[in-house]
Amino acid sequence: MAISDPDYTWKILLLGDGFVGKTSLVNRYVRNTFTKEYLHTIGMEPSFRDMKIKGLKIALQIFDIAGQKSFQRLREMFYRGARGGLITFDLTRPETLASVEGWYKEAHKKAKGSQFILVGNKHDLTDQREVSEHDAREVADKLKMLDYIETSALTGEHVESAFMMLGKYILKKMKR
Ligand code: GDP
Ligand code: MG
Repeated sequence: MAISDPDYTWKILLLGDGFVGKTSLVNRYVRNTFTKEYLHTIGMEPSFRDMKIKGLKIALQIFDIAGQKSFQRLREMFYRGARGGLITFDLTRPETLASVEGWYKEAHKKAKGSQFILVGNKHDLTDQREVSEHDAREVADKLKMLDYIETSALTGEHVESAFMMLGKYILKKMKR
């Protein structure tokens, strides 16, 4: 439910390779649900949730990128006006961390001034983990990303915190 009369409305993006859990993170955050199925991202439909920071009402419009890499015009629309978001990789697949730089650069080019948090998802799969916190932080630092956090869309761990952290950074930048 949208809050009536928000103080701000922000467009927020979920970026990252296929199957890392972008749609699952949005579902956990917005609907508090999880499914083992691969969730087909339906076109350009945003999900909505509100957050409150320091008494301010913020309406989030959350867009999660589908595998539509080839549709250049759709991609322009996707990025336009975005404040920032979560660039997500899968802690069990190092190649998805290697893709983060590409996602970050594209977002920076297409959404000026946008800011991103690096998110290592599937933290619950402890036995299959193949990316260390050290290596992930190194990528975040190199790209001057806002922060790094590890989440599980399955258990819900740190999902709220990831969005809240992002919101606080965006607000801080606006007030400068
Ligand atoms: P997307 O392509 O990035 O949108 O990825 P999806 O959200 O569709 O998730 C891909 C697959 O990973 C699905 O089978 C999900 O159930 C699974 N998945 C997503 N997040 C997690 C997580 O935190 N833990 C585990 N164990 N599986 C996850
Ligand atoms: Mg998806």
